[in-house]
Amino acid sequence: MDQNSDQVAHISPVRLSYESRFSFKCHPGISCFTLCCRNISIILTPYDIIKLKTRLGLRSDEFLAIYTEPHLLEKTDIPMVTLKLLDDARHSCPFVRDDGCLIYADRPTACRYYPLGVASIQHKEGAEDRGFFFFVSEPHCRGFEEKCDWTVADWRKDQGVEERDEANALWTDMVVRKRSFPGSLKWTEQTKSMFFMASYNIDKFREFVFESSFLKRYPVDAATQAQLKSDDVALLKFGIQWLKDLIFKQKDPHAQAAGSQTA
Ligand code: SF4
Ligand code: SF4
Repeated sequence: MDQNSDQVAHISPVRLSYESRFSFKCHPGISCFTLCCRNISIILTPYDIIKLKTRLGLRSDEFLAIYTEPHLLEKTDIPMVTLKLLDDARHSCPFVRDDGCLIYADRPTACRYYPLGVASIQHKEGAEDRGFFFFVSEPHCRGFEEKCDWTVADWRKDQGVEERDEANALWTDMVVRKRSFPGSLKWTEQTKSMFFMASYNIDKFREFVFESSFLKRYPVDAATQAQLKSDDVALLKFGIQWLKDLIFKQKDPHAQAAGSQTA
């Protein structure tokens, strides 16, 4: 099937492009309403955490402690976090209620993409080009039976993921680049800790930047410093760029891969 022009079959294990088409509608009257918010794994991006901790009035370390679980991805050892599900019979998301999502306007990127998955974030093979999506195949989801036509590009726009993908772009690129390294080349524990802090624990990272000797070793102009003190997204982008400079040294990953062993 030509995914660029034809209708994609229901819940098919195909690689989707921005132009791929599908029919889907989710609404409160549907029989499966909120089933997808239970017993699932939701990877949180750095921007998701910034939005959620702000919405809940928490520091990033408080949010991480209460609402997330840390993971190391198989093969790549990349630190990731997922939403911690409740210990109830249905393993529910902490934000789901019978009438929907409590934090809908700030729901995570994965919830917005659903029923699509994003290969670059969910670590599918061959996702280096970022333009790779797929259907999250869950038999309880009746949304595919509803008549409402979309392209992947239209769905992304409708669900407000473009802003999120832009804010996470440097981080996503770093995750993809890490994955492109040979499996034998590992980050040190210190590098993984730094990646975790800069990616997910943004308030802690701000303390690290402004309350350690960081700025003596990595000079930053006064205007940028002022922005980083109050702007979480700017600090996220700054932190990931700093890590990329440090780890990848802005060279071709295959050419300088040995550098990652000591990072
Ligand atoms: S399972 Fe599918 S159709 Fe049902 S509520 Fe979730 S996304 Fe909507
Ligand atoms: S955050 Fe909201 S949309 Fe996402 S799983 Fe939880 S309740 Fe559902």
